[in-house]
Amino acid sequence: MHTNLITDLPDLVATELIQTEEYLTFIVDYKTDHVKCPSCGRKVGNIHDRRPKSIQDVPFRDKKVVIKIVKKRYNCKHYDKRAIPKNLKSIPGYSRKT
Ligand SMILES: [Zn+2]
Repeated sequence: MHTNLITDLPDLVATELIQTEEYLTFIVDYKTDHVKCPSCGRKVGNIHDRRPKSIQDVPFRDKKVVIKIVKKRYNCKHYDKRAIPKNLKSIPGYSRKT
């Protein structure tokens, strides 16, 4: 039994829905636009880079479901590896589709 990702996204919020004949496309964004710095433990909201990502979800009512997100990484002056990725519980590894 499959469940749609979009119905269970605790750390994401859908901002837009685009419907076509074939596709249901959800544009999603982070609910909280910061991460916790692994070095100093503070909240970090400085965006290091953004990478658009499309994730194919389970079809819904004969339509293909696609989730579009801009994956962000952050940086903190205390953190010498520069980029802190935001880990999303709802989309493990983002491995479904590139
Ligand atoms: Zn820091």
